[in-house]
This record gives sequence, C-alpha cells and structure tokens, in this order.
Amino acid sequence: MTHALVVGAGPAGLIAAEVLAKAGFSVDLADAKPSPARKFLMAGKSGLNLTMDQPLDDFIATYRCPQLDPMVRDFGPDDVVAFATGLDQPVFTGSSRRVFPTAMKASPLLRAWLGRLDGLGVRLHRNWRWIGLPDGQVHRFDTPGGERTVRADVTVLALGGASWARLGSDGAWAEDFRMRGIHLAPFQPSNMGVGCPWSDHMARFFGQPLKPVGLTAGSKTVVGECIVSSRGLEGSAIYAVSAELRNGNTMFVDLTPDLSVAQVKQRLARPRGKNSLSNHLRKTLKLPDLKRALLREWGGPLPTDPGALAALVKALPAPPLAPFPLDEAISTAGGVAFDAVDDGLMLKSRPGVFCAGEMLDWDAPTGGYLITACLATGKWAADHAVRYARDNAAR
Ligand SMILES: Cc1cc2nc3c(=O)[nH]c(=O)nc-3n(C[C@H](O)[C@H](O)[C@H](O)COP(=O)(O)OP(=O)(O)OC[C@H]3O[C@@H](n4cnc5c(N)ncnc54)[C@H](O)[C@@H]3O)c2cc1C
Repeated sequence: MTHALVVGAGPAGLIAAEVLAKAGFSVDLADAKPSPARKFLMAGKSGLNLTMDQPLDDFIATYRCPQLDPMVRDFGPDDVVAFATGLDQPVFTGSSRRVFPTAMKASPLLRAWLGRLDGLGVRLHRNWRWIGLPDGQVHRFDTPGGERTVRADVTVLALGGASWARLGSDGAWAEDFRMRGIHLAPFQPSNMGVGCPWSDHMARFFGQPLKPVGLTAGSKTVVGECIVSSRGLEGSAIYAVSAELRNGNTMFVDLTPDLSVAQVKQRLARPRGKNSLSNHLRKTLKLPDLKRALLREWGGPLPTDPGALAALVKALPAPPLAPFPLDEAISTAGGVAFDAVDDGLMLKSRPGVFCAGEMLDWDAPTGGYLITACLATGKWAADHAVRYARDNAAR
C-alpha cells in the first residue's frame, strides 16, 4: 500500500489527507499541536467566512496570482459550499456576498470532518513536531514519547504561514527550507491592523466602528468599516487595503462614500449661520461625532472654504500607518516561492514532497479567499501526489 504523510492539520493538510485516503493510500497526518486546526477554529470565532459568492473569474482575479488560477478553478467557491454542506454544515450568504456556515463557528464542521477522516483510516498524530526536510523518505518528528520516524512514498507539507504562532503557524519550518536553498519570499503581515498615534481627543471613540468609509491606498479602494482602537485601526476595510499600506502607500479616507465631492461641496456651501463648523458638518453631511473627530485629528486646522473642506472630507490623508506585527496578522504573504515547486506543487529539489496552503507565496484579502485557496492548494497538491506515486509505481 502506498504510504502518504501529511504534516500540518489545518484546512490545507486536512483536505490533502482526505484526498490521499480516498485514493486508497495509507495516511499519517501529523501536527505539532495537541489538537488540529487551531487557527481554523480561531477563524470561526468571529464567523467562519468560508468563501465568497462571486463569479469564478472575479473570484480568481482577486488573488492576482496566476499560479493559483488552475487550482481555484479545480476547487472554487461552489466546491467549498458543497464541501461544507457535505459535512452537514449548511451555509448562507451574507450581505457582502461572504459565505458562512449557518453555525458560524468552525467547530461543528471540524468535528464532522475529523470524524470523516477517521472513518477513512487517516491516523492523526498530535504533538508531533516535524523536524525538517529529510535527505531521503524518512521524516523525523519530536514527540512527547521521543523521536519518531515515518517513511513516506509521498508527503504533503501544509505547515501554515507565520502568524498566530501560539496556534501552531510559527513559520519555524522556513529556516530549514532556507538552509536547504529552497527559494522563499520573505514573510510579511497581511490582513493586519495598522498603528497610529492618537491625540487624547480620540480616546472616547476607542472600540467604535468607523462606518461607512471609503479607504484608498495605492491601487486599492474599498468601502466598508473599521474599528478605531487605542493602537490604531483594525477591521475588514483596513485589512482590505493593508497590502497597499504595507508597501508604503498613503491612505486616504472618504468620510462620505455615498456623496460626490460636488454634492459635499454644495452642502457645505449652505449658509452656516451661528453654527460652529462642527455643527455645520453634522447638519449638512450628517457626519457623526467619530467622523468629525477624525477629520480634525488628521485634517485640522480645518479650512472653512467649502471646496477645500469638501476635498478633505472626500480624501482625508492619514498620517504614516505602521502595520501591526507579523504574529498578529490574520494571514501572511510570502513563503515557498512558486518557482521552487512544479505545476503540481511538488518541491523541485525534493521529488515526492508537495507544499500547500498558506506556506506558499500567495496573498489574499479576507472574504473567504484564504480558506478557499488553502483547500484548493491542499487538494491540488494531494491530487498530484497521488499521480506522482502511481507513476512511480508503474515504472
Ligand atoms: C483571527 C483569524 C481569523 C481568520 N478568519 C478567516 C476567515 O473568516 N476566512 C478565511 O478564509 N480565513 C480566515 N483566517 C485565515 C485562515 O485561518 C488561514 O489562512 C488558514 O487556517 C491557513 O490554513 P493552512 O492549512 O495553510 O495553515 P494553518 O491553518 O496555519 O495550519 C498549519 C498547521 O501546521 C502545523 N505545523 C506547523 N509547523 C509544524 C511542524 N513543524 N510540525 C508539525 N506541524 C506543524 C500547525 O500546528 C498548524 O496546525 C483567519 C485567521 C485568523 C488568525
């Protein structure tokens, strides 16, 4: 019987184990943590956004990564939905076309999935830390019972990125890869909050959502909401422009995304009477306290000329914003470069060893794109591992 090893029991590793087991392989699935898929469970805490209900071409274009194209075509949003419902987890589509399991959490889906893998004979080894790439086919693990070895005909590595180390994705594997000359793109935070120093005037707004706002940085514009925190800005709209901010672009905030510059100017030009400028902004533009405070924070002293003030309301420049540290990011860009693997995601320098999930060098916004690509690459790597093992056996 062909023996397959999967290392890393996040979504990419779990689907790889399933594909390999369904192909009739004997599968060992090892994870360094005492329980599998901790980051996946964390993702479910604020609602597990599995994928996006969007035309496939638009969905794929979001990744801006041609290498992912065939993989997401092979296992895309519809397949993710079928996968979840196949585990008795019905889904619904939220207002922004984001798809969630009705249960919102990841735990019922994970429980059902682990049960299915168990039924397929997959052996899950907890607390098994993979030591690094072996020279041959025998992989070594640090386990509570001492060193253990596994001989594998094919291996899928799904070790995750380099954020939220306490959940298992510590990126420690990268050092071993680098030492062995495997091309890696440097890890960078992705979908992260950004820090900025606030004056005391902003303290009363900490924890409040800034919404709706338009955020523009570099080539990206998004309308949504973010949270003002004591450290800076967090939440979905900031995550959406975070890659552009990481690259040093200035962010501009549109405080009235529903109004054009001309409409804002026209409203601001109405007679102000005895109203303070703040009251005038509140009455004419319905700007709530937080938006007016931000306008003063980043745009003060405010011009009184309606044209100049309208320009500021529509494109308020933020001061330099510092990305939160890598470990706090929702995901990480960087990892195994696509030129280090073949079209089937097999390491060119290690025949029989495949890579999948966030450990590969792709990046995506939140919105279910992350989990979808982890599942798609996990399935792709395992499909090609099956093909590789069968071709080898036939030789
Ligand atoms: C707060 C939060 C919310 C999120 N929400 C969403 C969301 O709603 N939608 C979405 O699409 N994505 C979301 N994500 C991102 C998503 O969870 C990840 O992209 C996804 O889990 C990555 O899957 P993976 O299988 O590649 O790696 P991981 O899930 O990181 O799994 C990697 C596994 O490898 C194991 N491992 C690492 N090194 C070793 C080793 N040496 N030996 C053995 N095992 C090892 C780890 O213990 C871990 O279990 C969220 C992330 C966070 C942190």
